[in-house]
Amino acid sequence: MWAGPLIERKRDGGALEPDEWRSLIAAYTAGRVPDYQMSALLMAAFLNGLEPAEVAALTGAMLDSGARLRFDHIRVPCVDKHSTGGVGDKVSLVLAPLVASCGVAVPMISGRALGHTGGTLDKLEAIPGFRTALSPAEIQRQVELLGCAMIGQSADIAPADRKLYALRDATSTVESIPLIAASIMSKKLAEGISGLVLDIKRGSGAFLPDLEDELELARTMIRLGEDHGCRTVALVTAMDRPLGNACGVALETEEAIAALRGEAPADLMEVTYALAAEMLMLGGVARSAPDARAMLEQAIRSGKAASTFRSVVAAQGGNPAVLDDPGLLPQAKEVTTYQAPRAGYVACVAPRVLGKAIVEMGGGRRTMEDAIDASVGFVIAVRPGDAVEAGQPLASIYAGNADTLRLGLSALSRALRLSPEPPAPALPLISHRVSTGGVETLT
Ligand code: URA
Repeated sequence: MWAGPLIERKRDGGALEPDEWRSLIAAYTAGRVPDYQMSALLMAAFLNGLEPAEVAALTGAMLDSGARLRFDHIRVPCVDKHSTGGVGDKVSLVLAPLVASCGVAVPMISGRALGHTGGTLDKLEAIPGFRTALSPAEIQRQVELLGCAMIGQSADIAPADRKLYALRDATSTVESIPLIAASIMSKKLAEGISGLVLDIKRGSGAFLPDLEDELELARTMIRLGEDHGCRTVALVTAMDRPLGNACGVALETEEAIAALRGEAPADLMEVTYALAAEMLMLGGVARSAPDARAMLEQAIRSGKAASTFRSVVAAQGGNPAVLDDPGLLPQAKEVTTYQAPRAGYVACVAPRVLGKAIVEMGGGRRTMEDAIDASVGFVIAVRPGDAVEAGQPLASIYAGNADTLRLGLSALSRALRLSPEPPAPALPLISHRVSTGGVETLT
């Protein structure tokens, strides 16, 4: 296919027709449009934006490029969650089995760490033996049986997005609201879900640090979801500091397992409960947020959520003993604490600095092909606003060797800023709810 006239039109501020998007994406997926032409088109879309009809057509074309999971035959509703990503965000590991244990099935397709943000697949694969590559038939069987599967995007699901996302990553065209919305929604809609809850991260550690951009991304994804019969709601949550205490692959897996036992930091549990409550309401098993919250707390207290996770781990080839013995997760060779150099108030725990340090220490990826060391990272013991004494331990560093330990110490001295006066309040943990009804401010 010769894409020249389409590139010219997009470059000059025009729009492509839905049929043109469909033919272009089908031809690109089949290898009949070269990467150099698609790169030029993506850059034109990045610079000039896409009209709503174009975003819808692009999403539909990427969705139609692969298989769709089907769960019409199971009696429980299927709902999922997607986060725009952050540092310390291990919510998915807690939420998927928690929601499934309350009667809403969760066929969750997740991604890997890239850049400064972590990825659910890496955290699951820190569990010895855990397999995230299941066939569509295996996923369907497991969701029928356990109400939950936690998997990666296979070659069968939205292959056009897989190819385009790699190209965007290499051509600096990722940070575009219409392209992000189409990419995420094409994968999520392929899950065959009837409801979706979006966790839109806000603050210095988020993908799009500006609130107006985040609300626009939420509105765009909600429109795409609803157009495909998938009821979609978004919460905007804080990423101006890490979520919970642990940052780093296996450390986060360990904290998520503790959360399933009811031993989580309060902020992690608040965000998890708020997103999970929306899922129970979308799935129709709870009538109100307080009803949903009571069901979720009971599932943690009774051990039902932890037991669902144990079954999922076993079904996907992982060692379920990890739930009783976190020592089975990868362990760092070097561990030390970082102490407050002076007394004061914690002004900031900068998530982006910590996330980038984890990549430098070998625990994250610069490109999709990089291998990672799951054992490295930080456990942060303080929050913005806390008063601290000189010499007080503020964080622990987990590293693979003495050099990366030094890197970690240096990153902490930049990420954990102290001030003599109490700092301005951090962002509210959950600040907005976005739905087809509009934007609600929650604080
Ligand atoms: N995650 C995705 O899956 N796609 C994007 O474009 C950005 C984040």
